[in-house]
Amino acid sequence: MSLDMFFKPRSIAVIGASNHPLSIANRIVTNLMENGFKGPIHPVHHRNPVVKNIPAHKSIEDVPGEVDLAHIIVRNSMVPDQVRACGNKGVKGVIVNASGFREIGGDGIELEKELQAAGKEAGVRIWGPNCQGCMSSDPQWPLYSNFTFAKMQPGHISICAQGGGVAELINNHLAEIGVGFRMYASNGNACDVSIPEIIAYWNEDPETRCIVLHAESFADPKELLRVLEGVKKPVLALKSGVTEVGARAVASHTGGLMEGDTSTDLIFDKAGVLRFRSAEELCEAAAAFATQTPPKGKRVAMLTNTGSLAIMAADEGVPRGIEMPDPADATKEALKKALMGIASLHNPVDMMATAGAEHFGAAADALLADDNFDLLLITMVTPFFVDTEAVAEAIVEASKKHDKPLIMEVLTNQRWASTLDILRKAGIPTYYFPESAARAVSALCRYADIQRRPPAVEPERFDVDAAAAKAALSRATDEGWLEADAATALLRAYGIPFVEERRAQTVDAAVAAAADLGYPVVLKGEAASLVHKSDAGAVKVGLADEGALRAAADEMVSTVGAEGLGFLVQQQVDGGVELLVGATHVTGLGPSVAFGLGGIFVEVLRDVRFGLAPLSKVDAEQVVRSIKGFAMLEGARGQKPVALDSVIEVVQRVGQLVADHPEIRELDLNPVIASDKGALAVDVRVKV
Ligand code: ADP
Ligand code: MG
Repeated sequence: MSLDMFFKPRSIAVIGASNHPLSIANRIVTNLMENGFKGPIHPVHHRNPVVKNIPAHKSIEDVPGEVDLAHIIVRNSMVPDQVRACGNKGVKGVIVNASGFREIGGDGIELEKELQAAGKEAGVRIWGPNCQGCMSSDPQWPLYSNFTFAKMQPGHISICAQGGGVAELINNHLAEIGVGFRMYASNGNACDVSIPEIIAYWNEDPETRCIVLHAESFADPKELLRVLEGVKKPVLALKSGVTEVGARAVASHTGGLMEGDTSTDLIFDKAGVLRFRSAEELCEAAAAFATQTPPKGKRVAMLTNTGSLAIMAADEGVPRGIEMPDPADATKEALKKALMGIASLHNPVDMMATAGAEHFGAAADALLADDNFDLLLITMVTPFFVDTEAVAEAIVEASKKHDKPLIMEVLTNQRWASTLDILRKAGIPTYYFPESAARAVSALCRYADIQRRPPAVEPERFDVDAAAAKAALSRATDEGWLEADAATALLRAYGIPFVEERRAQTVDAAVAAAADLGYPVVLKGEAASLVHKSDAGAVKVGLADEGALRAAADEMVSTVGAEGLGFLVQQQVDGGVELLVGATHVTGLGPSVAFGLGGIFVEVLRDVRFGLAPLSKVDAEQVVRSIKGFAMLEGARGQKPVALDSVIEVVQRVGQLVADHPEIRELDLNPVIASDKGALAVDVRVKV
């Protein structure tokens, strides 16, 4: 639905507008006036006949003519009545700046429900309550419906933030570094107009090139994911409130590994949103996205007149995924002709401090033209002995000839303000620190990676034995844990490979089972009290013959105790990487698969990513590849690479299982042992 009434209102009323300069309502009237709002502004106040030299009205219903938008800044308990009055007047939207609603708990929650209902009944869309408001820098509809101070400067970034402070922090900083904004939204409690709705609106706004999103919590994660997946422009996001670890004390690994922030990562990963850990880093990147067309790939050319700064940029960028190949031979030839003999023609191309406009221009042109590169980063100092304005002009000229991004780091001061001005006016983002520029470049490259992801497809279904799965799922203890053989039966029903095993009550029976399976074997103890078996001495691996098996069994009985102890004999799975494939319900999103490095140190490694179930092959592969330790699967330290397709298939089958059976609350395959031959689970726990 259109949000034009908030971003392009033709007339605005400010209900509660007083003449007190230190009041919110007064500031809103002032901001609207000072920032060029083109339509009528109508102060509404029960006493004041005039506010800021504008005739005021006693009630919204007394205002002449049509009113598109009204701010409401009155005592909380009076807000619903004002909304009803706005409905009578035909006002289309209200911004409730007043606070004292859901955020105060208790009566506030009830009052917010009343407000919501009043809006619905009166046909008035509500922004807020407890919010700042919105802004638009559209020259046709300049709108400063907000009480803060960031400079209004037209640009292409649209900023949506739940926290008003963060919205202002980002907007104000961007203004300070000369980057304008397109639209701005801070909608507080969001009782009606939601963040996904605002994002969807901006997706349709041609002047918005990049969307910045800040959130502390997601009211409707599924809806947010749905909308974000449809956004066709870069979304740069910051989520705060991430350190609160989910307070669930669970026996399964997967549950314990899910932090309060899992749903955020899941949504952002799936929708291809770029996540940042600080407002500063986000602003650095936003400045680049606002001015540059995103690159096609992540191969970065660096050009410098101060080698040490380029090296710092490379050190920051390479671990973040940028690639720095050498220039093509033809480019090297061109550089050799154009530059002085002392120049270094590798990447970074170092022209030395004496390089002038002709050198910068020719080198930038050659590097931007080179098919080996997707973007160019220039780090430069402004020397006294060079005409730096001419340098800037030459760089701008070169950049105009190509549609690859160009980012600059300029070590300078106020003396060279005019040089910087030339670059900024041409829309070339400039940074003071080489690391800042490199981080912005890395963000552009991350986006290129996202753009090149294969398109999302419907998850394919594997044939499964539904009846067997149903029977297995009915065999749970009072606490919900599936009996051990029921858990393996469930896996079998879904074609999830599990090691060959036999159960035995006595040592002699275990010996017979081992003979059947073939040595070497693994002996495990099973008892109601055993959760993490190896911690209790109930896992004995690498048993090569009957003697070793009997000795291991005797030792296990003496450490664990014979009471209620049963034996499990498994084939020994050799070599490979231990992985965790788990499943859990992620708040607001539903059944999800966890994947990471597994084994008994899984809680120490904490290298786990989540994917929403069910997963297509593309989804599953993306989750698998996104763990930090992915190199372990590619064959670290002379190991053979693991059979990635088998691993991906296990992830997919587990995804199908938990999507089909949401009654599964926790599932843990730890470890799944992956080698070049395949992937095989050797330990399972399932809770329903
Ligand atoms: P728990 O997680 O309850 O401690 P596991 O069954 O996961 O017990 O076993 C612990 C460790 O023992 C595994 O991480 C793995 O290193 C090893 N292990 C268990 N079963 C096998 C097996 N069949 N083949 C090879 N190694 C095994
Ligand atoms: Mg285990």
